[in-house]
Amino acid sequence: MVNIANQALEGFVDRLMDAICVVDTEGRYVYVSAAFERIFGYHPQELIGAQMLDLVHPDDRARTLEAAADIMAGNPQLHFENRYLHKSGHVVHVMWSACWSPADRLRIAVARDITELKRADSLRATLLEISEAANGSTDLACLFERIHKILGNLLGARYLSIVLCEGEPARYSFVYPDDEPHDAARALATEVFSRGRPVLRCDRLGVPLQTASGIIGALLIKGELDAPLYTPRDQDLLQLVSSHVATAIERQQLYERLHAMARYDPLTQLANRTLLNERLQHAVQQADRHGDRLAVLYLDLDKFKQVNDTLGHAAGDTLLQAVARRLKACVRAIDTVARIGGDEFVVLLERIHDDADADRVAQVIDRALKAPVLLEGQSWRISSSIGIARYPDDASDLAQLFRHADQAMYAAKKRSRRPG
Ligand code: GH3
Ligand code: MG
Repeated sequence: MVNIANQALEGFVDRLMDAICVVDTEGRYVYVSAAFERIFGYHPQELIGAQMLDLVHPDDRARTLEAAADIMAGNPQLHFENRYLHKSGHVVHVMWSACWSPADRLRIAVARDITELKRADSLRATLLEISEAANGSTDLACLFERIHKILGNLLGARYLSIVLCEGEPARYSFVYPDDEPHDAARALATEVFSRGRPVLRCDRLGVPLQTASGIIGALLIKGELDAPLYTPRDQDLLQLVSSHVATAIERQQLYERLHAMARYDPLTQLANRTLLNERLQHAVQQADRHGDRLAVLYLDLDKFKQVNDTLGHAAGDTLLQAVARRLKACVRAIDTVARIGGDEFVVLLERIHDDADADRVAQVIDRALKAPVLLEGQSWRISSSIGIARYPDDASDLAQLFRHADQAMYAAKKRSRRPG
């Protein structure tokens, strides 16, 4: 066996990447190896006689004292983790193995710096959370709130602003939160977009939201007032996370576009049958709950085919668009105007007060549609047949309500066809 002198042994110990320390029953350092300085920032001489607990993160002190008592009771620890505060103020994550020497009445411990491992773990967890948020959010507003929470945990982001690039040509608008953006946030956003890369300004960090199709916006964060300033490392972390956030936002936007496409008529931008049914179901529920009434106006243009036959299909389309605009102008914002077929429209009037309300709206619509429309340089006149059904007066369910309105429309059409 090689006989190693004490001094040489101490030299080896000081070369170790892990730190070794010995603490007395009062929790004071009696020995620390050189690695302590690399991990915690303190020279060993500064620590001899110092309280171990003073270096421990305040939130982990109670747990650490419990573990120390357990070790002194003769139960060695192999994987005890806690957080220390580095001399320069940042948090260091440490994993300890420790045992008790009854003869010396000392605790002997080895510390491994696992800050990097913890960072990688938390990054992995964050990316998973972002993808879960992307899958589990019902709309963009909900996604933004979840992203705010995630960045709050990861980077202590007290404030989050999300700027999205919308329209053609591109306009940038602050879409989260709802309130007016701070001047400093506006300035940061401008800088991020003009540079096209991350910008670090003391307690503020801004990164572009980059996807395969380009920059779709920016993420801006600001920490708590008394929090340490952001570092280039935080910037790298936010940039990494931001590409996942960008993908999540892009997916949600796509989903919302598809959702809208499935609910609106592309020619007139009016609600289609699907959206009308959703609104009707909701309106009937509300009416049942609050004892309200509602009315459905079923409307079909008269002799619309003549427009197509005489002026062409494009002119027919223009007429349908003009009809849609006029219908919208005749109703309140809470009412729904839908196109449910070629020249068939439905107006849902919610919370009507008396029988005459729906009749009045039908008359207003009738007059509005009769005003001439300029098609292919010709002034064209159109009329419509309107059937009215009220809930709960004329029907006890949706299908019956629709049938009633449809029959009333056909009756009106028949009347309008009668000569004289
Ligand atoms: P009626 O007075 O009995 O209502 O007859 P109409 O000529 O208005 O014809 P009807 O309501 O029976 O049918 C509507 C026509 O609208 C059928 C189709 O040729 C036409 N149409 C359907 N969709 C579109 C469309 O998107 N654009 C155009 N331009 N025409 C359409
Ligand atoms: Mg028609």
